Amino acid sequence: MEAVKRNILLNPGPSTTTDTVKYAQVVPDICPREAEFAGLMKGLREDLVKIVHGDPAIYTAVLFCGSGTMNIDVCLNSLLPADRTVLVVNNGAYSTRAVEICRAYGLPHIDLRFPVDEQPDLALVEQTLREHPEIALVHTTHNETGTGLLNPIRELGALAHRYGAVFTVDTTSTYAMRPIDVNRDNIDFCMASAQKGLMSFTGLSFVVGRRELIEQSAAYPMRSYYCNLFLQYDNFEKTGEMHFTPPVQTIYATLQALREYWAEGEAGKWARHTRVFEAICQGLDELGFRQVIRPEWRAGLVASVRYPSDPNWSFQAVHDGCYRRGFTIYPGKISGADTFRLCALGAIDVPDIEAFFRALREVLDELGVKVPVQY
Ligand SMILES: *Cc1c(COP(=O)(O)O)cnc(C)c1O
Repeated sequence: MEAVKRNILLNPGPSTTTDTVKYAQVVPDICPREAEFAGLMKGLREDLVKIVHGDPAIYTAVLFCGSGTMNIDVCLNSLLPADRTVLVVNNGAYSTRAVEICRAYGLPHIDLRFPVDEQPDLALVEQTLREHPEIALVHTTHNETGTGLLNPIRELGALAHRYGAVFTVDTTSTYAMRPIDVNRDNIDFCMASAQKGLMSFTGLSFVVGRRELIEQSAAYPMRSYYCNLFLQYDNFEKTGEMHFTPPVQTIYATLQALREYWAEGEAGKWARHTRVFEAICQGLDELGFRQVIRPEWRAGLVASVRYPSDPNWSFQAVHDGCYRRGFTIYPGKISGADTFRLCALGAIDVPDIEAFFRALREVLDELGVKVPVQY
């Protein structure tokens, strides 16, 4: 097996993959309607439930062919009964995306907004639930990938349940990295896609959620044909297959990624992401960069960094210099503030971050940006 040129992706997914995962895509051609392939998907779905500690009698994983946004679309349009309302606890770009999905489907919704650099005010969430008994679904984002802010999902889930609502969480940027336990974290539905925490490829997304609630949703208005949770679930239950063509090669890669996930282990993998994130924070500190999110509210996977005020600073030029050296950095996602992001996803470790900061230092010197950077 020849080594593939290794790029260090510090963007918020797709993430750096191992060569064994890359090569797992190279398999003999197979029609995905063969029993052999359905058998592979069964094990895959079971593993996806196990990663978040779901009881397979209660939780199931439903696979979709698409990027991660598809999961948000599927959950919101499929799990809302007629004449009921969605509450989006919104403090960032990804919860805003959920609001846009509600708008696109014409779903009654409350967009409960909080500042992007703060955890939500739980008392206000509770007051909203109390005043609006029509709320049937509460949605939020675990790690707001736009800023790296961690949301208190366990507390939000407990509130949702106290007021009789279903709790759906966008865990796309924590799943298989920051440990999640659907029982303790009060999660009815969570979601992710293969190219982030699992360190596989784009094209496979999945919702992990309660079977009973999916079965109930068969009676809800069908607002999408392709993106309907019950239809896809029902097809898996009856045939073991996706309703339509699955992303065959990504599924083979993801099976290998899962073998590597179990070999590294939940605790070992989270420890690695944590030391990578700490190395990122330390490197930023040493160069004088300021982060947006205060340390105790960081999810430990995405550093959101303010642009320095140096006249020679140009994000594009810094990006290009890093890219030429094999490192990808990413723009921020906060309107009204100029930021960039460095993420601790993927098959990388501390030496990669040390190498990145040597490269960044070179690029800053080349551009004449003063170090430590100025604000
Ligand atoms: C990456 C991500 C998504 C999905 O984005 P796609 O571009 O559709 O893959 C959704 N939610 C969060 C929180 C994410 O980080």
